[in-house]
Amino acid sequence: MAATPGPSPAAPEAAIAFPKDIAFPGEIHVAVDATDLDRRIVRVHETLSGVTPGTVLLYPQWLPGTHAPEGPIDRFAGLKITANGKPVPWTRDPVQVFAFHLAVPGGVKSIDIDFQYLSPTSGSIGPLEMSRDILMVEWNSVVLYPAGYFSRDIAVTASLTLPTGWKFGTALETDSVNGPQATFKRTTFNTLIDSPVYAGSHSIQVDLDPGAAVPVRLDVFADREALLAITPEEVAAHRALVQQAYKLFGSHHYAHYDFLYSLSDKVQQQGLEHHQSSEDGSDPESFTEWTKTAYDRDLLPHEFTHSWNGKFRRPADLWTPNFNVPMRDSLLWVYEGQTEYWGEVLAARSGLMTQQQALDALAQKAAYYASEAGRQWRNVEDTTNDEIINPRRPMSWPDYQRFEDYYEEGALIWLEADTLIRERSHGARSLDDFAKAFFGINDGSIITVTYTFADLVQALNRVEPYDWADFLHQRLDGIALPAPLEGIRRGGYQLVFTDTPSDLLKNSDEQRKRVTLSDSLGVIIDDETGTIKSVRWSSPAFAAKLTEGTQILAVNGTPYSKDVLKDAITAAKKEKEPIELIVKTGDRFRVAVLDYHDGLRYPHLVRDEATPARLDDILAPRS
Ligand SMILES: [Zn+2]
Repeated sequence: MAATPGPSPAAPEAAIAFPKDIAFPGEIHVAVDATDLDRRIVRVHETLSGVTPGTVLLYPQWLPGTHAPEGPIDRFAGLKITANGKPVPWTRDPVQVFAFHLAVPGGVKSIDIDFQYLSPTSGSIGPLEMSRDILMVEWNSVVLYPAGYFSRDIAVTASLTLPTGWKFGTALETDSVNGPQATFKRTTFNTLIDSPVYAGSHSIQVDLDPGAAVPVRLDVFADREALLAITPEEVAAHRALVQQAYKLFGSHHYAHYDFLYSLSDKVQQQGLEHHQSSEDGSDPESFTEWTKTAYDRDLLPHEFTHSWNGKFRRPADLWTPNFNVPMRDSLLWVYEGQTEYWGEVLAARSGLMTQQQALDALAQKAAYYASEAGRQWRNVEDTTNDEIINPRRPMSWPDYQRFEDYYEEGALIWLEADTLIRERSHGARSLDDFAKAFFGINDGSIITVTYTFADLVQALNRVEPYDWADFLHQRLDGIALPAPLEGIRRGGYQLVFTDTPSDLLKNSDEQRKRVTLSDSLGVIIDDETGTIKSVRWSSPAFAAKLTEGTQILAVNGTPYSKDVLKDAITAAKKEKEPIELIVKTGDRFRVAVLDYHDGLRYPHLVRDEATPARLDDILAPRS
C-alpha cells in the first residue's frame, strides 16, 4: 500500500558522548553518610574536578552481576549542584533518563554535588538494604560520574560514615578510620562500583586461608549475636572451599577476597558477585541449623567461582566500557551456567554439602527440567534475555516462561560436557582441565579477559577434540528438546521418583516452612497459611485452575494441614474418587477437583551399576 499520512517523529536528542579510553582529567571525591537507619535515607556529597561547560553526569544504569539496566534511579532524589557556592542548573536527558546535562559556567573546574539515595523503607518498595543491625552500601546507588570516559579511567576517593561502633567489610583498601568515618584508598571508578561495603552491629570475621599471602575472609553480619556461632567443622568446610577452588582453577584474580555474608531475614538475601568480594545472603540459621540449611549451601561456592568465571573472564558482548552502555547477555549460559555447575561441585568437594545432599539437589533440578512446560515454546539460549525482560520481579507461571533457565539448565549441559570428556578420554581428562586452562590464566591478575563463543569452543577442543560447537548449539538453540539429563546417565545415575522426599528436601521444607509437592500435584505450599506459592503449568493443580496466592482451606472436607493433604494424595492412589479441595482466591471460595491418582512423588538419583560412577568422581574432593 501507499504511505499513509500522519505525524513524523521529532528530531532525535543529541547523543551523549560514547566513552573513550582516555584518562579523565579530574577526580571524584564521594562522601556517603549511611547513619540514618530509621528513615533509611543515605546522604551523598560529591566533588568532581575536571568539569567543562558540556559535562554530562551519569547515574550507573547497567549493573554488572545483574546484567540489566537496574540502577535504582527511582530512589535518587534531592540533586543540587553548585560551583563556588553558586547553583549549576541541570537538565535530565529525556531519552537517557540516567544522564544529567549540566550548564557549567566557563572557567569552573570543580563542582559540588549533593543528593540522597532513598533506600526502600518497606519490602513492598524493594528489597531492604538497611536494618537496625545491618547495612549494605552499593556504591552504584550513591555516586554520579562523568560521561565520555571508560569508567576504569576515572579516579575516585570514597569515604563512608557508619553508625557508631559498627564493623564493616569490603574489598576496598581502607586508608583510615576516624571514629564512625572510614576513608578508602584512591581507586578506579570500576573498582569502587565493584566493591560494596557491608556493615553491622553483630559481626565476625573468619580467616578462610590462614597464613596465606592473599587473604580470603568471611565477613559475617547477622540480625543477632547468637546467629554468629560458627562451629569448627563449619569453618573447616569454608576453608576447604578456598583450597578446592585453587585446585580447580590453579590461580586467583584478587589482591584479597571478602565474602560479605549476611545472615538476616530483616534485609534482602541476595547473591551478587564481584571481582574481589561477593554479597551472599543466606538463611539466618545457616550456622546454627547447619543440616537444615544445606539447601542453599552452594551460594558461596557459586559467588566465589564468579571471581574467575564472570569477573576475570567475561563474555565479550557483556563487557562494557562504563555503566551506561547496554550489556548483551547472550553467553550467560557460560557466565552463570558453568558457575552454577562449579558452585554445586565445589559445595560437595569442600564438604559444605555432603555428596548425598549434592545428588539430592541435582535430582530436584533434573525433575524440574524433565517436565518443564516452557521448553515447548522457548529455547534455553533465549532465556539469557530474562534479566533485561524481567529483573526478578514476581511473575506468573515462571516454569512456562522458563525464567532464567540458563543457570540450572546451563549447569546440566556442563555436567553433560564434563561426563562426555571423561568418557571419551577414558577418565584421563575432565571439565576441570577446561576450568584451569580457560579461567586459570594470568594468575594474580585482576584485568578482565573477554571471550567469544568461538574462544570457548576452541578451549574445549584443546581439552578434548570434539564438535563442541554442534554439541552446544544442539542443546542451546532447539525448541521442544528433552531436558539435558544425559550427564546424569553418563555420570552413573538414574532419575527415579519415590513416595518419600530426600533428606535435603525434607529439611529445606521444614526450615522454610513449605510443603513441596511439585512432582505430584504440581504445587509448593506455604505451610503456615496453606497458601499456594507456585503452581506448575500442565500439572494436576493447573488443570484444577489453582494459582499462586490461592489458599487451601480443606481437603476432602477436613481442615487443611500438610499431613491431611499428603494422606489424601496417598489414598487417591487406590481410589477412583478425585481429591476435593475447598480453596479461597481473593474473596472467592470454591471447590477444586484434582483427578490425580499417582500418589506422592519425590525425585532421587539412584546408582546405575552399568555405568562408571563418574558423578561420584566429579563430586569428590581433589587431593
Ligand atoms: Zn551467578
